[in-house]
Amino acid sequence: MANTSNPFSEDTISANHEPFVLAGGTVHDPATGRDGVVTDLWVEAGRIVEPPADPDRFHRVDAAGLVVMPGGVDLHSHVAGPKVNAGRRIAPQLARARRQGQPAAVPTIHNTGALYAALGYTTVFDAAIATGAAAIASLELAELPILDKGFYLLAADDAQLLAALDGNDPTTIKRLIGDAVGQGGGWGVKVANPGGPAFWKRARGDHRDLDTPLPGFGLTGRSLLARLARGVAAAGLPHPLHIHTANLGLPGNWRTLAETMRTLDGIPAHLAHVQFHSYTGGNLDADSFGSGVAGLAAWFNDHDGLTLDVGQVLFGETVAMTGDSAAAEHLAHTTGVPWHSHDLWLEGGCGVLPIAYKEKSLIHAWQWAIGLEWFLSVADPWRLVLSTDHPNGAHFTAYPALMQLLGDAAFRREAFERIHPAVRKRSPLAGLDREYSLQELCIITRAAPARIAGLPQKGQLGIGADADITLYRPSGDLAAMFAMPAAVYKAGQLVAENGHCRATPTGRQLRAIVSG
Ligand SMILES: [Zn+2]
Repeated sequence: MANTSNPFSEDTISANHEPFVLAGGTVHDPATGRDGVVTDLWVEAGRIVEPPADPDRFHRVDAAGLVVMPGGVDLHSHVAGPKVNAGRRIAPQLARARRQGQPAAVPTIHNTGALYAALGYTTVFDAAIATGAAAIASLELAELPILDKGFYLLAADDAQLLAALDGNDPTTIKRLIGDAVGQGGGWGVKVANPGGPAFWKRARGDHRDLDTPLPGFGLTGRSLLARLARGVAAAGLPHPLHIHTANLGLPGNWRTLAETMRTLDGIPAHLAHVQFHSYTGGNLDADSFGSGVAGLAAWFNDHDGLTLDVGQVLFGETVAMTGDSAAAEHLAHTTGVPWHSHDLWLEGGCGVLPIAYKEKSLIHAWQWAIGLEWFLSVADPWRLVLSTDHPNGAHFTAYPALMQLLGDAAFRREAFERIHPAVRKRSPLAGLDREYSLQELCIITRAAPARIAGLPQKGQLGIGADADITLYRPSGDLAAMFAMPAAVYKAGQLVAENGHCRATPTGRQLRAIVSG
């Protein structure tokens, strides 16, 4: 086994830019309808190309016996900007490798790219960059090697845009969104706790529903969501409004998510880390706190406009970081750990604190079970994206363990037996036997996030697609299989083999082209 805390190998080989054919691999490519088809993929100049008339020009790479998928696409992660640096500062012990073979909770920017690539991921988005931090985030992302990368801007924290939303002025809303994304070099727009920052800035408080007007405005969280989502669609951004709704982490917050979904019915929008927004109860006790997933997922399945990512919690130490300062303060006061908050009076804020998720904790066990319940309850995998909200729910290097929990019901049952007994007794997860197929795992880690992000060149291996390709050795041990790809190609270049980086090309920055 390679040491994943040090993915750089001494014996780097020269980059292979020659045209090549990946011969005889078992291809999983949901976008082109190939589900385990043995076929050849022809690669030239960084793209998948038609079988050529002069095949002898193409170097042959034997992929027989290997599973071939598009490179992974992470739609919601936190890898750059002030909150990530605050995470390194507040938990320095977690910023280093914790144990041999275990990566840092908040790796350096260089290791972040190397670890993602070694895992078979070739595209990543940072989900929350304040407009004032766009320039520094761009500079940092330029240092993230190998992957193509972009970010979503917290544009609605801007005073001018907030005023335009309050005045319900679609022309100005569209222009300000276009200006923010164009000037900031962003890919999309994120809203974290709609309207919440206005309450936070005024009184260090928060609102508890979507219908209380923001201090000094007629605008409510609900009207902000609908107007902003329409504005993002009108601005022609590739990715719809990315939403972290109000009341993150609070008991009873399933109602807020239900209202958020109803508000956005018929408007393009993506719901982030729904696990953190799906709790019943009025308190954090065994009789009250629980899962609201069943009703939420039933509504989601019946209304096909929205998409979501889960934000799965996995047990272990990590760092929570969010643009939702009120949620971070609440969590810090609940857990009693030191925390970091900044930008109180400026336009974007963040809260950062260390957290350790434990199997025997009632709340953490519920969070774990609720995330899995979401994965197993959404009928259409094309509308769902695998995420841990890295590093909030778990580190991205834990994705393979999550894939095993989804694809192996026996493994999941064993894990279920170890969690808090009150959760075992009440969680609907006990009755869910669904297992994700390789094809479905491919959809939620590649095809769906690429489609939802608005990246037609990615998450697929059809003619003309980017030659971002991951090769796996098939195994019944899905965690082992997905943790250690046999080979990873980025734009046709071999970048990782067996957990070691082989090359560190720069990768492209993904910036939305904003039309005037
Ligand atoms: Zn997030």
